[in-house]
Amino acid sequence: MRLSRYFLPVLKENPSEAQIVSHRYMLRAGMIKQSAAGIYSWLPLGFKVLKKIEGIVHEEQIRAGHVPMLMSTMQPADLWKESGRYDDYGQEMLRIKDRHDRDMLFGPTNEEMITDIFRAHVSSYKDLPLTLYQVQWKFRDEIRPRFGVMRGREFYMKDGYNFDLTKEDALHAYNRHLVSYLRTYERMGLQAIPMRADGGPIGGDYTHEFLVLAETGESEVFYDSAVTDLTFGDREIDYDSVEQCQGVLEEFTTKYARTDETHDEALFNEIPEDRRRTARGIEVGQIFYFGTKYSESMGAKVQTADGEVPVHMGSHGIGVSRLLGAIIEANHDDNGIIWPEGVTPFHCGIVNLKQGDEAADAACESLEKALAAVGLEALYDDRKERAGGKFATMDLIGLPWRITVGPRGLKNGVVELTSRRSGESEELTPEAAVAKLV
Ligand code: ATP
Ligand code: MG
Ligand code: MG
Ligand code: MG
Repeated sequence: MRLSRYFLPVLKENPSEAQIVSHRYMLRAGMIKQSAAGIYSWLPLGFKVLKKIEGIVHEEQIRAGHVPMLMSTMQPADLWKESGRYDDYGQEMLRIKDRHDRDMLFGPTNEEMITDIFRAHVSSYKDLPLTLYQVQWKFRDEIRPRFGVMRGREFYMKDGYNFDLTKEDALHAYNRHLVSYLRTYERMGLQAIPMRADGGPIGGDYTHEFLVLAETGESEVFYDSAVTDLTFGDREIDYDSVEQCQGVLEEFTTKYARTDETHDEALFNEIPEDRRRTARGIEVGQIFYFGTKYSESMGAKVQTADGEVPVHMGSHGIGVSRLLGAIIEANHDDNGIIWPEGVTPFHCGIVNLKQGDEAADAACESLEKALAAVGLEALYDDRKERAGGKFATMDLIGLPWRITVGPRGLKNGVVELTSRRSGESEELTPEAAVAKLV
Protein backbone atom coordinates (compact mmCIF):
# COMPACT_ATOMS: atom_id res chain seq x y z
CA MET A 1 0.00 0.00 0.00
CA ARG A 2 1.29 3.41 -0.94
CA LEU A 3 0.87 5.96 1.78
CA SER A 4 0.01 8.66 -0.76
CA ARG A 5 -3.08 6.65 -1.71
CA TYR A 6 -3.96 5.54 1.81
CA PHE A 7 -5.96 7.39 4.46
CA LEU A 8 -3.79 7.96 7.52
CA PRO A 9 -4.81 11.20 9.18
CA VAL A 10 -1.92 11.45 11.67
CA LEU A 11 -2.16 14.16 14.34
CA LYS A 12 0.95 16.14 15.25
CA GLU A 13 -0.37 17.40 18.58
CA ASN A 14 -1.42 15.36 21.56
CA PRO A 15 -5.21 15.39 21.72
CA SER A 16 -6.15 16.97 25.04
CA GLU A 17 -9.09 14.64 25.70
CA ALA A 18 -6.90 11.51 25.82
CA GLN A 19 -5.83 10.62 29.36
CA ILE A 20 -4.00 7.38 28.68
CA VAL A 21 -1.32 6.43 26.21
CA SER A 22 -3.33 3.95 24.13
CA HIS A 23 -6.11 6.45 23.55
CA ARG A 24 -3.59 9.15 22.70
CA TYR A 25 -1.73 6.99 20.19
CA MET A 26 -4.89 5.63 18.59
CA LEU A 27 -6.04 9.19 17.91
CA ARG A 28 -2.62 10.42 16.83
CA ALA A 29 -2.04 7.46 14.52
CA GLY A 30 -5.37 8.12 12.80
CA MET A 31 -6.90 4.81 13.88
CA ILE A 32 -10.21 6.02 15.29
CA LYS A 33 -12.41 9.09 15.28
CA GLN A 34 -14.93 9.73 17.99
CA SER A 35 -18.46 10.35 16.73
CA ALA A 36 -20.09 10.73 20.16
CA ALA A 37 -18.99 9.93 23.71
CA GLY A 38 -17.79 6.31 23.73
CA ILE A 39 -18.72 5.79 20.07
CA TYR A 40 -16.05 5.59 17.40
CA SER A 41 -15.56 5.22 13.71
CA TRP A 42 -12.71 2.92 12.78
CA LEU A 43 -10.42 4.59 10.28
CA PRO A 44 -8.44 2.34 7.91
CA LEU A 45 -5.45 1.68 10.19
CA GLY A 46 -7.60 0.99 13.26
CA PHE A 47 -9.99 -1.12 11.22
CA LYS A 48 -7.10 -3.24 9.97
CA VAL A 49 -5.92 -4.04 13.50
CA LEU A 50 -9.49 -4.69 14.65
CA LYS A 51 -9.87 -7.25 11.84
CA LYS A 52 -6.54 -8.88 12.69
CA ILE A 53 -7.64 -9.32 16.28
CA GLU A 54 -11.03 -10.60 15.21
CA GLY A 55 -9.30 -13.04 12.85
CA ILE A 56 -7.23 -14.54 15.67
CA VAL A 57 -10.35 -14.85 17.82
CA HIS A 58 -12.16 -16.71 15.04
CA GLU A 59 -9.26 -19.05 14.35
CA GLU A 60 -8.95 -20.04 17.99
CA GLN A 61 -12.68 -20.46 18.51
CA ILE A 62 -12.98 -22.66 15.45
CA ARG A 63 -9.93 -24.64 16.58
CA ALA A 64 -11.75 -25.30 19.86
CA GLY A 65 -14.75 -26.63 17.95
CA HIS A 66 -17.04 -23.64 18.44
CA VAL A 67 -19.44 -22.60 15.69
CA PRO A 68 -19.51 -19.01 14.34
CA MET A 69 -22.74 -17.19 13.56
CA LEU A 70 -24.10 -13.65 13.70
CA MET A 71 -27.06 -12.32 15.65
CA SER A 72 -28.79 -8.99 15.13
CA THR A 73 -27.69 -6.00 17.16
CA MET A 74 -31.33 -4.96 17.70
CA GLN A 75 -33.38 -7.14 19.99
CA PRO A 76 -37.03 -7.19 21.00
CA ALA A 77 -37.59 -6.34 24.66
CA ASP A 78 -39.97 -9.31 25.01
CA LEU A 79 -37.07 -11.78 25.21
CA TRP A 80 -35.60 -9.89 28.14
CA LYS A 81 -38.96 -9.70 29.84
CA GLU A 82 -39.07 -13.50 29.70
CA SER A 83 -35.72 -13.91 31.40
CA GLY A 84 -36.55 -11.19 33.91
CA ARG A 85 -33.54 -9.09 32.99
CA TYR A 86 -35.41 -6.27 31.21
CA ASP A 87 -36.00 -4.43 34.45
CA ASP A 88 -32.82 -5.59 36.20
CA TYR A 89 -30.36 -4.44 33.55
CA GLY A 90 -30.88 -0.78 34.35
CA GLN A 91 -29.57 2.27 32.54
CA GLU A 92 -26.71 0.55 30.73
CA MET A 93 -29.32 -0.82 28.34
CA LEU A 94 -30.14 1.42 25.38
CA ARG A 95 -33.90 1.16 25.02
CA ILE A 96 -35.56 2.17 21.77
CA LYS A 97 -39.13 2.26 20.50
CA ASP A 98 -39.90 1.44 16.88
CA ARG A 99 -42.62 3.22 14.84
CA HIS A 100 -45.24 0.78 16.12
CA ASP A 101 -44.34 1.72 19.67
CA ARG A 102 -42.77 -1.68 20.31
CA ASP A 103 -39.98 -1.88 22.88
CA MET A 104 -36.62 -2.69 21.33
CA LEU A 105 -33.06 -2.49 22.57
CA PHE A 106 -29.53 -2.46 21.21
CA GLY A 107 -28.04 -5.69 22.57
CA PRO A 108 -25.58 -5.31 25.46
CA THR A 109 -25.11 -9.12 25.47
CA ASN A 110 -26.99 -12.04 23.92
CA GLU A 111 -27.92 -14.76 26.41
CA GLU A 112 -31.65 -14.28 25.80
CA MET A 113 -31.39 -14.18 22.04
CA ILE A 114 -29.17 -17.25 21.76
CA THR A 115 -31.42 -19.17 24.15
CA ASP A 116 -34.38 -18.25 21.96
CA ILE A 117 -32.55 -19.52 18.87
CA PHE A 118 -31.60 -22.71 20.67
CA ARG A 119 -35.10 -23.50 21.92
CA ALA A 120 -36.57 -22.89 18.47
CA HIS A 121 -34.36 -25.49 16.82
CA VAL A 122 -32.94 -27.97 19.32
CA SER A 123 -35.05 -30.47 21.16
CA SER A 124 -32.95 -33.62 21.57
CA TYR A 125 -29.95 -34.32 23.76
CA LYS A 126 -28.39 -35.88 20.66
CA ASP A 127 -27.76 -32.38 19.31
CA LEU A 128 -25.54 -31.59 22.30
CA PRO A 129 -22.90 -30.48 23.07
CA LEU A 130 -23.12 -27.25 21.11
CA THR A 131 -21.18 -24.00 21.39
CA LEU A 132 -22.24 -21.07 19.21
CA TYR A 133 -20.45 -17.75 19.10
CA GLN A 134 -20.34 -14.44 17.29
CA VAL A 135 -18.23 -11.32 17.05
CA GLN A 136 -20.70 -8.46 17.03
CA TRP A 137 -21.19 -4.86 18.12
CA LYS A 138 -22.67 -4.32 21.54
CA PHE A 139 -24.03 -1.20 23.17
CA ARG A 140 -23.86 -0.41 26.86
CA ASP A 141 -24.72 3.08 27.94
CA GLU A 142 -21.76 3.24 30.31
CA ILE A 143 -22.04 5.97 32.92
CA ARG A 144 -18.42 7.02 32.29
CA PRO A 145 -17.23 6.09 28.82
CA ARG A 146 -13.51 6.84 28.77
CA PHE A 147 -10.03 5.85 27.68
CA GLY A 148 -11.10 5.60 24.04
CA VAL A 149 -12.01 2.07 22.95
CA MET A 150 -11.24 0.68 26.41
CA ARG A 151 -14.57 1.72 27.83
CA GLY A 152 -16.73 2.57 24.90
CA ARG A 153 -20.48 2.60 24.75
CA GLU A 154 -20.52 0.91 21.35
CA PHE A 155 -17.90 -1.85 21.36
CA TYR A 156 -16.98 -5.03 19.53
CA MET A 157 -17.22 -8.24 21.49
CA LYS A 158 -16.85 -11.93 20.90
CA ASP A 159 -19.59 -13.68 22.81
CA GLY A 160 -19.96 -17.45 22.90
CA TYR A 161 -22.58 -19.65 24.49
CA ASN A 162 -22.34 -23.35 25.32
CA PHE A 163 -25.29 -25.73 25.60
CA ASP A 164 -24.69 -29.01 27.39
CA LEU A 165 -26.71 -31.85 28.86
CA THR A 166 -24.96 -32.02 32.22
CA LYS A 167 -23.01 -29.80 34.53
CA GLU A 168 -19.87 -31.89 33.87
CA ASP A 169 -20.18 -31.33 30.12
CA ALA A 170 -20.73 -27.62 30.64
CA LEU A 171 -17.64 -27.41 32.82
CA HIS A 172 -15.67 -29.07 30.05
CA ALA A 173 -16.94 -26.33 27.74
CA TYR A 174 -15.82 -23.80 30.36
CA ASN A 175 -12.34 -25.31 30.45
CA ARG A 176 -12.19 -25.42 26.66
CA HIS A 177 -12.89 -21.71 26.60
CA LEU A 178 -10.19 -21.06 29.15
CA VAL A 179 -7.63 -22.90 27.02
CA SER A 180 -8.72 -21.21 23.80
CA TYR A 181 -8.53 -17.79 25.46
CA LEU A 182 -4.99 -18.42 26.71
CA ARG A 183 -3.97 -19.22 23.15
CA THR A 184 -5.87 -16.25 21.74
CA TYR A 185 -4.25 -13.62 23.94
CA GLU A 186 -0.76 -15.07 23.58
CA ARG A 187 -1.05 -14.89 19.81
CA MET A 188 -1.70 -11.16 20.23
CA GLY A 189 1.50 -10.77 22.22
CA LEU A 190 -0.39 -10.36 25.49
CA GLN A 191 -0.19 -12.03 28.84
CA ALA A 192 -3.77 -12.21 30.11
CA ILE A 193 -4.01 -13.85 33.50
CA PRO A 194 -7.16 -15.78 34.40
CA MET A 195 -8.33 -14.48 37.76
CA ARG A 196 -11.10 -15.71 39.91
CA ALA A 197 -13.95 -13.26 39.57
CA ASP A 198 -17.29 -12.56 41.18
CA GLY A 199 -20.19 -14.70 40.00
CA GLY A 200 -22.60 -11.91 40.85
CA PRO A 201 -26.12 -12.81 41.97
CA ILE A 202 -25.78 -16.29 40.46
CA GLY A 203 -22.73 -17.00 42.58
CA GLY A 204 -20.52 -20.03 42.21
CA ASP A 205 -16.85 -20.54 41.51
CA TYR A 206 -17.21 -20.84 37.82
CA THR A 207 -16.17 -17.54 36.46
CA HIS A 208 -12.76 -16.17 35.58
CA GLU A 209 -11.81 -12.82 34.17
CA PHE A 210 -8.72 -12.49 31.99
CA LEU A 211 -6.62 -9.52 33.00
CA VAL A 212 -3.74 -7.76 31.31
CA LEU A 213 -1.57 -6.08 33.91
CA ALA A 214 -1.31 -2.33 33.26
CA GLU A 215 -1.09 0.73 35.47
CA THR A 216 -4.02 2.25 33.63
CA GLY A 217 -6.26 -0.79 34.22
CA GLU A 218 -9.56 -0.16 35.94
CA SER A 219 -9.51 -3.31 38.10
CA GLU A 220 -7.47 -3.81 41.24
CA VAL A 221 -5.88 -7.27 41.25
CA PHE A 222 -4.00 -9.43 43.73
CA TYR A 223 -1.81 -12.32 42.65
CA ASP A 224 1.07 -14.64 43.30
CA SER A 225 3.91 -13.46 41.03
CA ALA A 226 4.43 -17.11 40.03
CA VAL A 227 1.35 -16.85 37.76
CA THR A 228 3.25 -14.50 35.50
CA ASP A 229 5.76 -17.28 34.75
CA LEU A 230 3.07 -19.42 33.12
CA THR A 231 2.77 -19.49 29.36
CA PHE A 232 0.67 -21.73 27.17
CA GLY A 233 3.05 -21.58 24.22
CA ASP A 234 2.46 -23.71 21.16
CA ARG A 235 1.69 -26.95 22.95
CA GLU A 236 -0.73 -29.35 21.30
CA ILE A 237 -4.09 -29.68 22.96
CA ASP A 238 -6.97 -32.01 22.24
CA TYR A 239 -10.03 -29.89 22.93
CA ASP A 240 -12.17 -33.02 23.21
CA SER A 241 -10.05 -34.34 26.05
CA VAL A 242 -11.66 -33.60 29.40
CA GLU A 243 -8.40 -34.43 31.22
CA GLN A 244 -6.20 -32.20 29.08
CA CYS A 245 -8.47 -29.15 29.35
CA GLN A 246 -8.97 -29.71 33.08
CA GLY A 247 -5.19 -29.98 33.46
CA VAL A 248 -4.64 -26.61 31.82
CA LEU A 249 -7.33 -25.02 34.00
CA GLU A 250 -5.64 -26.35 37.12
CA GLU A 251 -2.20 -25.25 35.97
CA PHE A 252 -3.36 -21.70 35.29
CA THR A 253 -5.87 -21.16 38.10
CA THR A 254 -4.47 -22.88 41.18
CA LYS A 255 -2.08 -20.12 42.18
CA TYR A 256 -3.64 -17.10 43.82
CA ALA A 257 -4.94 -14.52 41.32
CA ARG A 258 -8.08 -12.56 42.09
CA THR A 259 -9.78 -9.27 41.38
CA ASP A 260 -10.75 -7.05 44.30
CA GLU A 261 -14.30 -8.42 44.23
CA THR A 262 -13.18 -11.88 45.36
CA HIS A 263 -9.95 -10.95 47.07
CA ASP A 264 -9.35 -12.82 50.35
CA GLU A 265 -6.68 -11.21 52.50
CA ALA A 266 -6.11 -14.32 54.66
CA LEU A 267 -5.51 -16.56 51.64
CA PHE A 268 -3.34 -13.90 50.02
CA ASN A 269 -1.15 -13.76 53.11
CA GLU A 270 -0.37 -17.47 52.75
CA ILE A 271 1.69 -16.67 49.64
CA PRO A 272 5.39 -16.11 50.44
CA GLU A 273 5.73 -12.38 50.98
CA ASP A 274 8.17 -11.71 48.15
CA ARG A 275 5.68 -13.18 45.67
CA ARG A 276 2.63 -11.14 46.77
CA ARG A 277 1.61 -8.58 44.18
CA THR A 278 -1.04 -5.89 44.14
CA ALA A 279 -1.49 -4.24 40.78
CA ARG A 280 -3.98 -2.96 38.25
CA GLY A 281 -5.38 -4.82 35.29
CA ILE A 282 -7.50 -4.47 32.16
CA GLU A 283 -10.33 -7.00 31.82
CA VAL A 284 -10.03 -8.36 28.29
CA GLY A 285 -12.37 -11.32 28.69
CA GLN A 286 -14.53 -13.38 30.99
CA ILE A 287 -15.83 -16.93 31.08
CA PHE A 288 -18.89 -17.95 33.02
CA TYR A 289 -20.80 -21.12 33.78
CA PHE A 290 -24.31 -20.26 34.99
CA GLY A 291 -26.12 -23.59 34.81
CA THR A 292 -29.80 -23.50 33.94
CA LYS A 293 -30.56 -19.85 34.71
CA TYR A 294 -31.75 -18.96 31.21
CA SER A 295 -32.75 -22.41 30.03
CA GLU A 296 -35.22 -22.72 32.90
CA SER A 297 -36.74 -19.27 32.67
CA MET A 298 -36.96 -19.43 28.88
CA GLY A 299 -37.76 -23.11 28.45
CA ALA A 300 -34.64 -24.30 26.59
CA LYS A 301 -35.03 -28.03 27.21
CA VAL A 302 -33.98 -31.24 25.55
CA GLN A 303 -35.62 -34.65 25.48
CA THR A 304 -33.67 -37.44 27.17
CA ALA A 305 -34.48 -41.04 28.08
CA ASP A 306 -35.55 -39.70 31.49
CA GLY A 307 -37.76 -36.95 30.12
CA GLU A 308 -37.27 -33.25 29.43
CA VAL A 309 -34.41 -31.39 31.11
CA PRO A 310 -33.18 -27.78 30.90
CA VAL A 311 -29.74 -27.46 29.31
CA HIS A 312 -26.63 -26.28 31.18
CA MET A 313 -25.18 -23.12 29.76
CA GLY A 314 -22.29 -20.74 30.02
CA SER A 315 -21.30 -17.54 28.28
CA HIS A 316 -17.83 -16.41 27.36
CA GLY A 317 -16.74 -12.99 26.18
CA ILE A 318 -13.68 -11.34 24.70
CA GLY A 319 -13.42 -7.57 24.43
CA VAL A 320 -12.24 -7.38 20.83
CA SER A 321 -12.20 -3.57 20.50
CA ARG A 322 -10.90 -3.09 24.06
CA LEU A 323 -7.98 -5.35 23.12
CA LEU A 324 -6.55 -2.67 20.83
CA GLY A 325 -6.18 -0.40 23.84
CA ALA A 326 -4.81 -3.19 26.02
CA ILE A 327 -2.23 -4.22 23.41
CA ILE A 328 -1.02 -0.63 23.04
CA GLU A 329 -0.87 -0.12 26.81
CA ALA A 330 1.43 -3.14 26.95
CA ASN A 331 3.44 -2.35 23.78
CA HIS A 332 4.61 1.20 23.25
CA ASP A 333 7.41 3.67 23.92
CA ASP A 334 7.71 7.46 23.88
CA ASN A 335 7.62 7.54 20.09
CA GLY A 336 4.50 5.49 19.54
CA ILE A 337 2.97 2.06 19.28
CA ILE A 338 5.02 -1.15 18.89
CA TRP A 339 2.67 -3.75 17.37
CA PRO A 340 3.21 -7.40 18.17
CA GLU A 341 3.66 -9.30 14.88
CA GLY A 342 0.35 -11.16 15.25
CA VAL A 343 -1.83 -8.04 15.07
CA THR A 344 0.23 -5.46 13.21
CA PRO A 345 -1.70 -3.61 10.49
CA PHE A 346 1.24 -3.90 8.06
CA HIS A 347 4.28 -6.07 8.57
CA CYS A 348 6.78 -3.58 7.36
CA GLY A 349 7.14 0.06 6.46
CA ILE A 350 9.20 1.18 3.49
CA VAL A 351 10.68 4.66 3.73
CA ASN A 352 11.97 6.24 0.55
CA LEU A 353 14.58 8.85 1.53
CA LYS A 354 14.51 10.50 -1.87
CA GLN A 355 11.17 10.27 -3.57
CA GLY A 356 11.57 11.00 -7.26
CA ASP A 357 15.02 9.45 -7.47
CA GLU A 358 14.67 6.83 -10.16
CA ALA A 359 16.76 4.15 -8.45
CA ALA A 360 15.21 4.71 -5.02
CA ASP A 361 11.65 4.68 -6.38
CA ALA A 362 12.30 1.48 -8.33
CA ALA A 363 13.93 -0.23 -5.35
CA CYS A 364 10.97 0.65 -3.09
CA GLU A 365 8.46 -0.64 -5.60
CA SER A 366 10.28 -3.89 -6.09
CA LEU A 367 10.66 -4.33 -2.32
CA GLU A 368 6.92 -3.91 -1.87
CA LYS A 369 6.32 -6.54 -4.55
CA ALA A 370 8.90 -8.94 -3.13
CA LEU A 371 7.31 -8.67 0.32
CA ALA A 372 3.84 -9.25 -1.11
CA ALA A 373 5.13 -12.34 -2.91
CA VAL A 374 6.00 -13.89 0.46
CA GLY A 375 2.70 -12.83 2.00
CA LEU A 376 3.91 -9.74 3.84
CA GLU A 377 2.05 -6.48 3.50
CA ALA A 378 4.10 -3.29 3.43
CA LEU A 379 3.16 0.35 3.83
CA TYR A 380 5.31 2.32 1.44
CA ASP A 381 5.83 5.96 2.39
CA ASP A 382 6.10 7.47 -1.07
CA ARG A 383 5.33 11.03 -0.04
CA LYS A 384 7.66 13.90 -0.89
CA GLU A 385 8.49 14.60 2.74
CA ARG A 386 11.55 14.97 4.91
CA ALA A 387 13.07 11.74 6.20
CA GLY A 388 12.56 12.85 9.83
CA GLY A 389 8.80 13.21 9.33
CA LYS A 390 8.58 9.82 7.64
CA PHE A 391 10.47 8.13 10.45
CA ALA A 392 8.27 9.79 13.06
CA THR A 393 5.12 8.54 11.31
CA MET A 394 6.49 4.99 11.08
CA ASP A 395 7.45 5.04 14.75
CA LEU A 396 4.05 6.36 15.76
CA ILE A 397 2.04 3.75 13.84
CA GLY A 398 4.33 1.05 15.21
CA LEU A 399 5.03 -1.36 12.35
CA PRO A 400 7.50 -3.97 13.65
CA TRP A 401 9.97 -3.42 10.78
CA ARG A 402 11.11 -0.52 8.65
CA ILE A 403 13.16 -0.72 5.49
CA THR A 404 14.86 2.55 4.61
CA VAL A 405 15.86 3.04 1.01
CA GLY A 406 18.09 5.84 -0.27
CA PRO A 407 20.31 6.58 -3.26
CA ARG A 408 23.50 6.42 -1.20
CA GLY A 409 22.86 2.92 0.17
CA LEU A 410 21.65 1.67 -3.17
CA LYS A 411 25.02 2.61 -4.72
CA ASN A 412 26.48 -0.05 -2.41
CA GLY A 413 23.58 -2.39 -3.10
CA VAL A 414 22.07 -2.09 0.40
CA VAL A 415 19.01 -0.89 2.27
CA GLU A 416 18.60 -0.48 6.01
CA LEU A 417 16.40 -2.79 8.07
CA THR A 418 15.30 -1.45 11.47
CA SER A 419 13.44 -3.21 14.25
CA ARG A 420 10.82 -0.98 15.87
CA ARG A 421 11.10 -2.81 19.18
CA SER A 422 14.87 -2.87 19.64
CA GLY A 423 15.69 0.14 17.48
CA GLU A 424 18.57 -1.84 15.99
CA SER A 425 19.42 -1.38 12.32
CA GLU A 426 21.49 -3.34 9.84
CA GLU A 427 22.47 -2.84 6.25
CA LEU A 428 21.45 -5.64 3.93
CA THR A 429 20.76 -6.27 0.29
CA PRO A 430 17.05 -5.85 -0.47
CA GLU A 431 16.77 -9.62 -0.98
CA ALA A 432 18.36 -10.35 2.38
CA ALA A 433 16.08 -7.82 4.08
CA VAL A 434 13.00 -9.55 2.69
CA ALA A 435 14.38 -12.96 3.65
CA LYS A 436 14.84 -11.76 7.21
CA LEU A 437 11.17 -10.83 7.56
CA VAL A 438 9.71 -14.11 6.31
P1 ATP B 1 -16.24 -4.15 32.75
O1 ATP B 1 -16.06 -4.79 34.11
O2 ATP B 1 -14.97 -3.59 32.19
O3 ATP B 1 -17.39 -3.18 32.72
P2 ATP B 1 -17.88 -6.32 32.03
O4 ATP B 1 -17.48 -7.30 33.07
O5 ATP B 1 -19.10 -5.52 32.23
O6 ATP B 1 -16.64 -5.32 31.74
P3 ATP B 1 -18.49 -8.51 30.23
O7 ATP B 1 -19.97 -8.51 30.32
O8 ATP B 1 -17.73 -9.53 30.98
O9 ATP B 1 -17.96 -7.02 30.59
O10 ATP B 1 -18.13 -8.51 28.67
C1 ATP B 1 -17.06 -9.26 28.08
C2 ATP B 1 -15.88 -8.39 27.70
O11 ATP B 1 -16.28 -7.28 26.92
C3 ATP B 1 -15.19 -7.76 28.89
O12 ATP B 1 -14.30 -8.68 29.48
C4 ATP B 1 -14.46 -6.59 28.26
O13 ATP B 1 -13.22 -7.00 27.72
C5 ATP B 1 -15.40 -6.18 27.13
N1 ATP B 1 -16.15 -4.98 27.49
C6 ATP B 1 -17.13 -4.86 28.41
N2 ATP B 1 -17.60 -3.61 28.48
C7 ATP B 1 -16.89 -2.90 27.57
C8 ATP B 1 -16.91 -1.52 27.16
N3 ATP B 1 -17.77 -0.66 27.71
N4 ATP B 1 -16.04 -1.13 26.20
C9 ATP B 1 -15.19 -2.01 25.64
N5 ATP B 1 -15.13 -3.32 25.98
C10 ATP B 1 -15.97 -3.76 26.94
MG1 MG C 1 -19.42 -3.53 32.65
MG1 MG D 1 -16.17 -6.76 34.75
MG1 MG E 1 -16.84 -9.19 32.84
